[in-house]
Amino acid sequence: MKRSVGFAALLLAGVLSASPGHAQSGIEKLYILNCGEGVAGDISRWSPGVNEGKSMDFVDNCYLIKHAQGWFLWDTGIPDAVAAMPEGLAPADPKAVTWRRPKTLAAQLEQIGVKPSDVKAMAVSHTHPDHIGNVEMFPTAVLYVQKAEYEWPGANNQPRFKKEHPVTLLEGDRDVFGDGSVTILSTPGHTPGHQSLLVKLPKTGEIVLSGDAVHFKSNWDNRGVPAINFSKDETLASMQKVADTLTKEKAQLWINHDKAQRDTLKMAPEFYD
Ligand SMILES: [Zn+2]
Repeated sequence: MKRSVGFAALLLAGVLSASPGHAQSGIEKLYILNCGEGVAGDISRWSPGVNEGKSMDFVDNCYLIKHAQGWFLWDTGIPDAVAAMPEGLAPADPKAVTWRRPKTLAAQLEQIGVKPSDVKAMAVSHTHPDHIGNVEMFPTAVLYVQKAEYEWPGANNQPRFKKEHPVTLLEGDRDVFGDGSVTILSTPGHTPGHQSLLVKLPKTGEIVLSGDAVHFKSNWDNRGVPAINFSKDETLASMQKVADTLTKEKAQLWINHDKAQRDTLKMAPEFYD
C-alpha cells in the first residue's frame, strides 16, 4: 500500500514538473481504414428535395489511432462477413446504400501489425449497421458510447450492444486520454446519442471526424438534414457545434461517407502523424 502511494506521488511530481500550458500529448498517428464501399440508390434520402433519383458512390471509413496509452478505434464499419458476398449487402430500402467490403478490417489491422486484442478502447459514432459491424471483433475493448445511444431500443426492443461488452457511458463530451489529443464530441440528431471525434495530431494538426453528423460535402455546405434523422433540430444544432469547433480549433472536417474527399486522403498502411 505504502509503495503504491509513493509511486503515485512520483507520477504526480512528474506531471507537476512539466511546464504549464504545454502538457505532453501522447497521440502518435492515425490510420484511415477502408470499412466499406457502396452505391446509394437515391441520394435525396440524405438531402430531401435535392438530387432526387440520383445514385452516388459512398465510402465508409474506420480510423485507428496510436496513442502512448494504447490503440483507439473510431467506428468499425460494415461487417467483415460482407467481404464474402460478391453482390454486396443490399438494403431493405432501395434508396439506401448497397455495401461491399473490398478489404476486411481484420486484414487491414494485420497489415499494420495490430492485433484486435491490442485495441484497448474504441468508440462508434452511432449504432447504424455501417458503423457497428465489427464491434465484437474487440470483445475486451472499452466502448465509449453516449448513454442516450446505448439505451435507445433497437429493432424488436433489442439492446444495441452485447450486455457483457465493457462500456463507458457518456453524457456529453469526453477527453479520452486526458491530454486533449482525442475528444469525443456529443453531436446528437442523426441518432439520439450520435457523436463525432476531435483529434489533434502532432504534425497534421486538428481534425474533426464527422461520424454521420453530415454525410457528404454538399450536404454540409447546404446544412441538409436527412429525412431519416432522429431529430432535425438536434442535427442542425450539432452541425453548428461542429462548425464552431472547426473555427475554434482551426480543424479540418473529414466526412466519413464522402468518397470525393476520401479519394484525396492517404489510406492505411499509410498514416497521418
Ligand atoms: Zn453511416
